[in-house]
Amino acid sequence: MPRLFLLALFWTAAATAQDVTAIRCGRLFDGRNLTLRENVTVIVAGNRIREVGGAIPPGARVIDLSRATVLPGLVDSHTHMYLHGTPYEEALLKRSLQYRAIWATVAARKTLLAGFTSVRDIETEGAWYGDAALRDAINDGLVIGPRMQAATRALSITGGYTPYGYSPDVEIPHGAQLADGIDGVRKAVREQLANGADLIKIYADHRRRGAHDPDKLVAFPTFSFDEIRTIVEEASKTGAKVAAHVYHSQAAQTAIRAGVASLEHGMYLDDETFRLMAEKGVYWVPTLMAYLQGLDEPARIAPERRRMMLGTTSRHKETFQRALKLPVKIAFGTDLSGNHENAGQEFVWMVEYGMKPLEVLRSATLTAAELMGWQDRVGTVEAGKLADLTAVDGNPVTDIAAMKRAVFVMKDGVVYKQP
Ligand SMILES: [Zn+2]
Repeated sequence: MPRLFLLALFWTAAATAQDVTAIRCGRLFDGRNLTLRENVTVIVAGNRIREVGGAIPPGARVIDLSRATVLPGLVDSHTHMYLHGTPYEEALLKRSLQYRAIWATVAARKTLLAGFTSVRDIETEGAWYGDAALRDAINDGLVIGPRMQAATRALSITGGYTPYGYSPDVEIPHGAQLADGIDGVRKAVREQLANGADLIKIYADHRRRGAHDPDKLVAFPTFSFDEIRTIVEEASKTGAKVAAHVYHSQAAQTAIRAGVASLEHGMYLDDETFRLMAEKGVYWVPTLMAYLQGLDEPARIAPERRRMMLGTTSRHKETFQRALKLPVKIAFGTDLSGNHENAGQEFVWMVEYGMKPLEVLRSATLTAAELMGWQDRVGTVEAGKLADLTAVDGNPVTDIAAMKRAVFVMKDGVVYKQP
């Protein structure tokens, strides 16, 4: 029965993709212009957008979204399909890779149905090359999910990634691939690219319990400039970009000067770093909601951890508000773990912290597509682009929470969700 169901589904999908579809949009955000146009019809032929505006061609299938706001398919620049909300070490040490892969297919489906048609999956957290396999399975039509770029394993230095605290006599898997020195990082990048990585993710700094004060987290830079430069050089041979997880300015500036394409999180970045990013065209993916999850449920989080989280989020907010006054490019990213259906909440936080709604919409469409290098394919509603479209219930300019209510999702001309 499941096989028959899938066959029927894909036959319908294939047949649909050949048709011409006219989508009546109550409001349209095209991803490029900071405005909402009213009562526009988008014509889709096969898997491409044929025309924006104009009359409905005779014989076209009509989809009425006149009560909704239509946008380009949303782009999340920071996902982890292999993280599922369980304690980190449980996922790493107690779940099989097969189980985690099944989880990941569920996450991919939730992500697509939340309106996200493209994602940059930025490491599997110990599940090896699983995101590259998931990407291929989606492209082959085996499972439903967004277009994906896969970072595979990510890179940090020895001592630069969890888990810690186990006997040195026991070999424990780590969430990232650990590599040291020029030759070490070069080989690691080559391995990841050979096994399907579309981009490389590094930890430019890392926090760990202090040696002298185990109650305190100590942040330290990981790779040297020369190591990051080597990673960037090696990645660029295949056109792969490098994303750097970083919290602090010192490591951020090393990574920027070594040529990374984006900084992830960055809640303690200073103005000098943002200016350097603007000068070098480096994107910032702030991932606000990753640090806000669970704060509204005090019972779930230990008081000490809650205090630490509140300190981090207040700095994040202040940094985000400073960045808004500078010409830094902000790409939307959620860094969600498990609750991938809630990705729309990041829009709410970005507006709450002071970004204008239309600018937030552009950061989750054209800007994020540019970071992926996919701006010629996705990220805007324009003739010739791939037919990736999302519609939300309501007007996100007056009520940004509308972004949590995706009512229509089309990817590659195929409708996955419809009112
Ligand atoms: Zn992350």
